[in-house]
Amino acid sequence: MMKAAVVNQNHTVDVIDQELRPLKANEALVKMEYCGVCHTDLHVKNGDFGDVPGRVLGHEGVGLVSQIGADVTSLKIGDRVSVAWFYEGCGHCDYCVNGQETFCRQAQNAGYTVDGAMAEECIVVADYAVKVPAGLEPMAASSITCAGVTTYKAIKVSAVRPGQWLVIFGMGGLGNLALQYAKNVFNAKVIAVDINDEKLALAQKLGADITINGRQEAVVERIQAVTGDGATAAVITAVSKVAFNQAVDAVRATGKVVAVGLPVETMDLSIPRLVLDGIEVVGSLVGTRVDLAEAFAFAAEGAVIPIVQRRPLSAINQILTEMAEGTISGRMVIDFSMG
Ligand SMILES: [Zn+2]
Ligand SMILES: [Zn+2]
Repeated sequence: MMKAAVVNQNHTVDVIDQELRPLKANEALVKMEYCGVCHTDLHVKNGDFGDVPGRVLGHEGVGLVSQIGADVTSLKIGDRVSVAWFYEGCGHCDYCVNGQETFCRQAQNAGYTVDGAMAEECIVVADYAVKVPAGLEPMAASSITCAGVTTYKAIKVSAVRPGQWLVIFGMGGLGNLALQYAKNVFNAKVIAVDINDEKLALAQKLGADITINGRQEAVVERIQAVTGDGATAAVITAVSKVAFNQAVDAVRATGKVVAVGLPVETMDLSIPRLVLDGIEVVGSLVGTRVDLAEAFAFAAEGAVIPIVQRRPLSAINQILTEMAEGTISGRMVIDFSMG
């Protein structure tokens, strides 16, 4: 028996004792150490993507392999691995073989379509469980497993090069990691935009070249003034339509706008602006196994330091309430050693 955080029909979470099914030949059992709480968990709990009663939440998991199936060759007992949103792809479709596996039409998602990592133990498909490198603290690794790789990949998609201007909209849990990757890995010049002065002060501390408070300043005009003809790219982690519209106006001709935040709204997109200025607007969804391994490696080198707080599994409903109220700064991480 193991304790697990399970979604129920009333859109709350029960921490209950559960029995795991036996391992299949290609699977491994992971004794979880940490699992971060992501905004997506809140959507899953609320049934925003469809109700999933009985599902174990969690896709920012890190733990140690305690058992392997008969056919497993990629993992051994004692390895530290992650449990990410991209849980498994079909392995043979165009997306899977062309480096776009997160878009596989048969992809499974931990903590949503299959049981996730917010439990004392979790079953993973061995070939899809990315190893956590030695030298990366496991609690920090949990934040890289979703928030970190999502922002790392978005900047990769933006194709920004050293010395070029990148605007990051939203300086919350995703944005502060995006900023660290942009500065310390991609060597971009970064303009951080938010409507909260505390978050902007943190951005400045983390190396943002320019910070803009969207409530106090004209965002697009300020970006034009700083960059000359607009930023090379923008990454939007903010969950606001306003930020998406500002991003399109803030990039230079041929600029790239990368959408990460997921407001359930429609953005305004001027077709003449798109065509005459050759603007690209593209979505970016978490990251592949290779992206995650890269995101881990840079964090292990110290380029990125997630801001985390540890909590026991029993606090999960409280954490999700705080998240819904927007009172959390940094990342809340379930520490399974806290009981
Ligand atoms: Zn997530
Ligand atoms: Zn596939």
